[in-house]
Amino acid sequence: MMSMDKNKETTPVLSDANIKLPIEIGIVGRFDAKLLKHNFRRVMIPTEYGLMDRAFYGEVDGRTILVIYGRFDKTRSLSEDINFEKTQAAFNTAGIKTIIGTFVTGGIQKKYDIGSVFIISDLVGIGGYRQSLYKKTGFKNVDMYKPFCDELRSALIKGAKECDFEVNSSGIYVCFHGYPRIETKAELDHYENMGWDIVGQTLDPEATLARESGCCYAAVAVTIDDPKTRGEFLSGDEKARKKTQNAIPEGRIKTTQVVFNTIKHIPPLKRRKCVCGHKFHSEKSHFRYLPDYILDSK
Ligand SMILES: [Zn+2]
Repeated sequence: MMSMDKNKETTPVLSDANIKLPIEIGIVGRFDAKLLKHNFRRVMIPTEYGLMDRAFYGEVDGRTILVIYGRFDKTRSLSEDINFEKTQAAFNTAGIKTIIGTFVTGGIQKKYDIGSVFIISDLVGIGGYRQSLYKKTGFKNVDMYKPFCDELRSALIKGAKECDFEVNSSGIYVCFHGYPRIETKAELDHYENMGWDIVGQTLDPEATLARESGCCYAAVAVTIDDPKTRGEFLSGDEKARKKTQNAIPEGRIKTTQVVFNTIKHIPPLKRRKCVCGHKFHSEKSHFRYLPDYILDSK
């Protein structure tokens, strides 16, 4: 059993785990084999949003890494109820300004077979969510015109070139918030007509919260179905059902490989020329409410 099953008493809290802050890179993903290979150790990170108990600290290629193991707490919930704020707050506590998210998604376009990998280049948010760390400090709109950091994306593209499978260097992720169901055929047809590539439920708000906290953020995704397999799957085809089920672990191996190949290519924060927010994050908001009293001229 890996250290994940250690009980809390024996797991150090970040503040007394002898870890030098800031930690450089945060990654969200399920990387069981890599966590074992690189001797990651589990740490607890108390946050205002609850205790982050899915965090693992380690070093890879000389870089310090905090892995948040998946997005769900112990009980699987609706994606709407995922505590994205807690994940971002844990990254903030560790001083992290560089985050990579990994995703399993549905495939929309017919040209992409099941198991296709994408370095995501843009996102479309369908529907609403209410998570924001600004709720505690005063609201600001998050600038998401360009959701992903160019420098992190370039590093991911370099890492992807070292993989023994093809990776698409761009792709549009549509984030569907239709909890608790997945998409109808009409919705998927609409996405296909719009030219969007992959669909999931979790990239947004994760990307938005990262930007809101002034972090460089990028994402890599793998498809666990495609339009043809989906049709066969839903008509009960045994082979298609197996293929779809196996696609999740097989896909995670691919996104893991891309991310771990990428770590050495990520430029140190100080050398980055991007404007993801870490430079401007302390700019003040000019929002003003009515003054407490208004002086009439007469
Ligand atoms: Zn950046």
